[in-house]
Amino acid sequence: MIRVCILLVAFFAINDFSAAQASDKDAGHLSSHWSYSGATGPQYWDRLNPKYGVCAQGVNQSPINLQSFIDAKLPPIEFAYSGQASEILYNGHTVQVNFPAHSASIRIDGNTFELKQFHLHAPAENQIENTVYAMEAHFVHADQSGHLAVVAIMMQGGKTNPALEGLWREFPTQADGPHPLKVPFFAESMLPVNREYYRYNGSLTTPPCTEGVRWLVLKQAIPVSDQQIKRFTTLMRHPNNRPVQPVNARMVLR
Ligand SMILES: [Zn+2]
Repeated sequence: MIRVCILLVAFFAINDFSAAQASDKDAGHLSSHWSYSGATGPQYWDRLNPKYGVCAQGVNQSPINLQSFIDAKLPPIEFAYSGQASEILYNGHTVQVNFPAHSASIRIDGNTFELKQFHLHAPAENQIENTVYAMEAHFVHADQSGHLAVVAIMMQGGKTNPALEGLWREFPTQADGPHPLKVPFFAESMLPVNREYYRYNGSLTTPPCTEGVRWLVLKQAIPVSDQQIKRFTTLMRHPNNRPVQPVNARMVLR
């Protein structure tokens, strides 16, 4: 039983977007517990559920405006990203692409973190020296103990993104369950050529805002066309970015 509980906790930590929906189901209704505006918007997340307290009380929250960097000679992230995604879904908060177990991973801090999913935000959540990119992709990884590492890739408005173009053909139209991907999609296709990164200690950017997340923000942005952005924002109907949070005592390494 204890093992099941641990697995469930890890599952909800990873699937940050489904946690709220799951607790909604537990409560016997299906309304979205939290949102990006109004009475269920970011400044009220902590009041919507006792489990969301850290959204307001945490001091290592994400996203942030990355600036005042510390030069740290960061070792390269070892990407093993040749694996293929299995499914796509719109969960009411974002469009998410899931990866099957052992299909892709990164190595960092002497530890392997498996890629679970990536999802998108428009506009970007993290800022780099006050620059707000058109979109941001979050590649969510977990190690065997459930520690999380997110690789964030900025997306700059302009040219068409060829990797997304294929994915967009299978773009979900409504918030329902995952759809198996018909066309192969490889995690690697989303990576920029230059994989230098910034690093800071942060949190999930959605309730329950759990802290202890390793944030690895790639310096080089990848392109996304206006049309591709529009497809996403039309489905979202509203921006899905949490406002930047105080940096407090944290260091941002580069
Ligand atoms: Zn995210």
